[in-house]
Amino acid sequence: MNVPQILRTLSTADQALVRPGVPLRELTTLGIGGKAALVCPVRNPEQARRFHSLARENDVPVFVLGGGSNILAADRGYSGIILCAASRRLDCRGEVVHVGAGLPFDDLIARTLDLGLTGLEFASGIPGTVGGAVVGNAGCYGHEIGEFLVEATILTPDGRVETVGPEAFGFRYRATDLRESGHLVLEVGLRLTRGDVAAAAADRAERIADRRRKHPVDLPSAGSWFRNLPPARPGERRRAAGKLLEEAGALSFREGDAQVFPRHANMIINRGRASSSDVLALAARMKQAVRQKFGLALQEEVRYLGDATA
Ligand SMILES: Cc1cc2nc3c(=O)[nH]c(=O)nc-3n(C[C@H](O)[C@H](O)[C@H](O)COP(=O)(O)OP(=O)(O)OC[C@H]3O[C@@H](n4cnc5c(N)ncnc54)[C@H](O)[C@@H]3O)c2cc1C
Repeated sequence: MNVPQILRTLSTADQALVRPGVPLRELTTLGIGGKAALVCPVRNPEQARRFHSLARENDVPVFVLGGGSNILAADRGYSGIILCAASRRLDCRGEVVHVGAGLPFDDLIARTLDLGLTGLEFASGIPGTVGGAVVGNAGCYGHEIGEFLVEATILTPDGRVETVGPEAFGFRYRATDLRESGHLVLEVGLRLTRGDVAAAAADRAERIADRRRKHPVDLPSAGSWFRNLPPARPGERRRAAGKLLEEAGALSFREGDAQVFPRHANMIINRGRASSSDVLALAARMKQAVRQKFGLALQEEVRYLGDATA
């Protein structure tokens, strides 16, 4: 992509907003990745339309990035345009909270509790943005964000801004139809409940403490690497990928500076200078161990961002 040429076509205001050559390791929680050619923060539908046509007119690919907490970025970087929902606006109409997709998801939980609205505390401590949580149907402890969504403003891959309901997402386990489709979620409306805020705050504190015990909260990681597998029989729970990996011996696996987190076999941590190829090699080894021991095929939950694999 000819970035200087593209920059010249932008208004002065947009030029001040976009960022060329941003290292993806700074935009992802795993702390890995070469440079992104151009990062465009999107605060409103007009900017969304403008940056989208910029990509179309220059025939460059687009990747939608949130907080980068479920992403492995390539060492070689990304030569397309990265769109990031940047609005953090929040307002409440009755029990429905309307929130910009760029707000950190955990800030949303804290702020809605301050407003006397409960419901999201189960998800306390999940990193990333509201947009990323909604398109990935983030969840834990038996609940998912999709249970709360009433509407969303989105930019479609062909450049239209639309308001849609939950049916447009097709919420299912850690996935929606919009997660990898090139749609950009700009704003969402979530229906919460005026409930017992003290109990919800206590629940929130317990969830955060539990995460601190089980997850690499102070180390670079991207959360669970693989999806849990469907139940073995109808009516049973999903089979935890972490348990299968642990039984397959993955807790001791390491490739370069990429290591399986010693307290959670489904999480990969960056010990400092891991490359995207280290991580891909480690993930392939983990997958192979489960295939060999159980004859089961794990599927990645973490999404790859880059021009080519490695
Ligand atoms: C320590 C740790 C613990 C975690 N625990 C959990 C957990 O308990 N439960 C859970 O579900 N996840 C968990 N995760 C994974 C991750 O935090 C969630 O998936 C999170 O919701 C991703 O949001 P994000 O903004 O970082 O999205 P990103 O990682 O930036 O992107 C993920 C996907 O969402 C898309 N996307 C992001 N923003 C938008 C948008 N505005 N519009 C359209 N598409 C968008 C991207 O294109 C990509 O496909 C954990 C991660 C870490 C590091």
